[in-house]
Amino acid sequence: MSVRSNLSMATVAYFSMEIGVEPEIPTYSGGLGILAGDTLRSAADLGVPMLGITLLHRKGYFRQHLDALGNQTESAELWNPEDMLEPLAPTVTITIEGRPVQVRAWRYQIQGYSGHTVPVYFLDTRLPENRAWDQTITDHLYGGDDYYRLCQEVVLGMGGIALLSALGLDGKVIYHMNEGHSALLTLALLERQMPPQTDQPPTEAEVEAVRQQCVFTTHTPVPAGHDQFPWDLLERVVGRKRAVLLQATECCIMGRLNMTYMALRFARYINGVAMRHGEVSHGMFPNYPIDAITNGVHAPTWTSPAFAELYDRHIPEWRQDNFYLRYAIGISLPEIQEAHAWAKRELLSEVQRRTGGHLSDNVLTIGFARRATSYKRQDLLFYDLERLKAMAQRVGRLQVIYGGKAHPRDEGGKEMIRRVFQAAATLGDAVRVVYLENYDMALGKLICAGVDLWLNTPLRPQEASGTSGMKAALNGVPSLSVLDGWWVEGHVEEVTGWSIGADLKTPGDQARDAASLYDQLERVIMPKYYGNQTGYAQIRRYAIALNGSFFNTQRMVSQYVVNAYLPPNRN
Ligand SMILES: *Cc1c(COP(=O)(O)O)cnc(C)c1O
Repeated sequence: MSVRSNLSMATVAYFSMEIGVEPEIPTYSGGLGILAGDTLRSAADLGVPMLGITLLHRKGYFRQHLDALGNQTESAELWNPEDMLEPLAPTVTITIEGRPVQVRAWRYQIQGYSGHTVPVYFLDTRLPENRAWDQTITDHLYGGDDYYRLCQEVVLGMGGIALLSALGLDGKVIYHMNEGHSALLTLALLERQMPPQTDQPPTEAEVEAVRQQCVFTTHTPVPAGHDQFPWDLLERVVGRKRAVLLQATECCIMGRLNMTYMALRFARYINGVAMRHGEVSHGMFPNYPIDAITNGVHAPTWTSPAFAELYDRHIPEWRQDNFYLRYAIGISLPEIQEAHAWAKRELLSEVQRRTGGHLSDNVLTIGFARRATSYKRQDLLFYDLERLKAMAQRVGRLQVIYGGKAHPRDEGGKEMIRRVFQAAATLGDAVRVVYLENYDMALGKLICAGVDLWLNTPLRPQEASGTSGMKAALNGVPSLSVLDGWWVEGHVEEVTGWSIGADLKTPGDQARDAASLYDQLERVIMPKYYGNQTGYAQIRRYAIALNGSFFNTQRMVSQYVVNAYLPPNRN
């Protein structure tokens, strides 16, 4: 599948605070960065003219250490850009707090299936011309205070636009803001529309000219997840004239610059990242038309070698065109079982290597790996330890593999990790629970593919999409999940997996959700796994054919082309 051929499409400049281009480049923290990397990989496969812009994050996100009680500590994840990226010559100057700051870029080339490449530009302020503090602006992903964050967002948005110019890449461009962090790019575009030195507020035509160039994807149904900066900080960092300009364009809400409102105001196309999330976002921002394009994952990246080999044998077209995964329905169940058994053995030997602990390959293995934070409720499975133990004794054994980092300042997330450790200690050998340190892309790929059941327990409606369940589906691993995010669409009960708390209208209730989780495990999933392997294999196969074929970034990028990038004048 290629959309390149006869579309004369503008280049899409995809701005994202984090982009996960490969496991060895630790410039991502979680879902947002993985999605950005998967998007650019699929754009390269499809031949879509696209480039990525992000920050270099020399100190990485962080390396996670967990002690015996599950207390997390962090250290810098140092890496050498020189080994992985190509430094580019031009530098540009932006203004922060009235002083000049030099920015340069490093390039990484994503090579697509068709040979098309998508470059990613990593912005860097570590230049000897800059003051010592300014050299650190592009060091830490999501580190530091509001001042640090705002300086980073000036580098990403305004520095990004200046660099594209310096590289001669600002001809016919569509600017795609992946979350609001990069919304200051619209300020740079607006200044280009306005007469130099003017003191007047922008005209509606000038604003409209910027809007026609911009697309915005919002990712966060939680208001606290939207960046805001107090007026005095804004004025200090960007200067009074620019601050007043932003106020005149209605980007300030109650005296604070709100990056989401700024992006909403200046985008001609806005979308949420799953159908349900589109509705939730529309409720949050009723004055804006909000569409929905459901997330996906880059299929060849997240398919384990065992399944990739199986697909290559039966449906070799799957790499070029992911829709061919629909025909996994014709693959025999024993072959599906065999590929999964291979992925499971790989995971369990990695568990042994890392922890010294032995997990058994004929025990139903539950996986739960994602960012550790309160609303994801890592501990819901342990709501009633006695019931869990009794189930494991009566119906069949269970073992659980966890992974996930908490943001260094997210106390709720750190508490989640400690609770998993406490439950693991209490359960002992009755239900073996392991928590793998330093969850990253490589570990994610192993866990999603190697477990038997992917568990997801967010507090509705806070999961915008979620993508790890999609990685699992590509590997024939069904989900047991709260009906939120993508699972509202991907779930067909007892066909692609199972739901927790099927009543969609009420907000999640801890006790009820836990009871539903246990009921599904005890009455449906465990009996099937232990009593009807063929039935379980059928569910694996439907997960691939129905969900793997659809919840991938190849379908997603094609939808962005059709709905967001191509229409020149949609409002
Ligand atoms: C896929 C992935 C995520 C996102 O998972 P969600 O289900 O969206 O929370 C986060 N971190 C890593 C390392 C991943 O591979």
